[in-house]
Amino acid sequence: MEIKAIRGFNDILPQEIGKWHFVEDTARDVFENFGFSELRIPVIERTDLFARGIGEATDIVEKEMYTFTDKGGNSLTLRPEATASMARAYLEHQMYSFDPVAKVYFMGPMFRYERPQKGRYRQFYQIDAEVFGVDNPMVDAEVIVMLMHFLHKVGLQTLELQINSLGCRECRPRYREELKRFFEKKSFQLCEDCQRRLQTNPLRILDCKVEGCKESIANAPRVTDFICSNCKEHFSRVKEYLTVAGVQFDVNPNMVRGLDYYTRTCFEVVSYDLGSQNAVTGGGRYDNLFQEIGGLDIPGIGFAIGMERLVSLLPKDRTFLKTPHLFIATLGDETNKEAYQLANELHLRGIRAELDYEGKSLKSQMRRAGKLNASYVLILGGDELKQGKAVLRNMGDKSQEEVPIKDLASLLQSKLPRL
Ligand code: AMP
Repeated sequence: MEIKAIRGFNDILPQEIGKWHFVEDTARDVFENFGFSELRIPVIERTDLFARGIGEATDIVEKEMYTFTDKGGNSLTLRPEATASMARAYLEHQMYSFDPVAKVYFMGPMFRYERPQKGRYRQFYQIDAEVFGVDNPMVDAEVIVMLMHFLHKVGLQTLELQINSLGCRECRPRYREELKRFFEKKSFQLCEDCQRRLQTNPLRILDCKVEGCKESIANAPRVTDFICSNCKEHFSRVKEYLTVAGVQFDVNPNMVRGLDYYTRTCFEVVSYDLGSQNAVTGGGRYDNLFQEIGGLDIPGIGFAIGMERLVSLLPKDRTFLKTPHLFIATLGDETNKEAYQLANELHLRGIRAELDYEGKSLKSQMRRAGKLNASYVLILGGDELKQGKAVLRNMGDKSQEEVPIKDLASLLQSKLPRL
């Protein structure tokens, strides 16, 4: 039987990869301009890190982690997100002793045992950025400004930034109780999951998508009416800094995010070009996370962008494929060796050259050059070759000229944009 990939785990094929590289390169470029450095984390961590960091009563920890016991009897988990690992690395390497403020980013696959559907997979890629060590609302805004700048730079337009404040460890418990009281009166209307959430994590009811629950949610008490004066002040400063930076946003009082560690500012960017899984990015402040994972009292803020969803939104009319600059077509076996040598030489000079390996006719070599979308074709014929020349055909305007082979690389470099 043919072995196929596991459900929810995707291959990213060469014809798609150009988009991924473009997104990754743009992220590196934008983030590094904002002062961020890459921090690479392992794929596997101790299960405790996620259970304590993300929260026992979250969907991720309750139902979605790929957890296994290794040969040494340790409970380990494939990372379902990056923030907890990044925070662990910051503590473990005492990065704060070099500079209390750390701006770090990461890109890589995450693993969650969710029900696969369009835009939701079991292995999916995230681009992650975090700032540790500052609780100034200016940083909340700066991180959001960077995110929006990045999303616009990759070409996304119809986006909506939604923000909310979730309060802190002083005021959130009060809101949680209020919410619990409210939903207890309506518990008969709630779905099975929300009945359970009512006991474990009533805030999570607010982003339930089940119709019956949505009706009760519409009249639920709003977190922004319960947050303490410090949190209110923080939130209004974030909004002020966003406005100063010219970033538009909507306050969505029902946005709670799926991870327990968020405090104060949280945000999501949604695209109406996506289907039901319309969130491209989620993020927020998490001033309790470090203590949860056994560390110091260090504030943090960050976001994670879903790569699959982002890539699916890229402008359709743009080509991201790296096509050959040149296809070397040969006329007869005697020119094969020259074609091979020439291709090697061009590769070393940074020119993408392809050639025929199968002794095909000129017609079928030209067909292949067209299929590969080569910009130019060099036709190497025995007679011209003896004079050190060949015919160069521009595949765009179909013009042809005879060129000295020794000048080919510099000629192509002058003809091709950005080489
Ligand atoms: P989260 O880590 O849950 O806050 O998610 C951040 C972003 O990652 C979301 O906005 C999505 O774009 C993406 N994402 C989360 N879960 C999945 C998944 N199972 N498949 C694909 N993308 C996902």
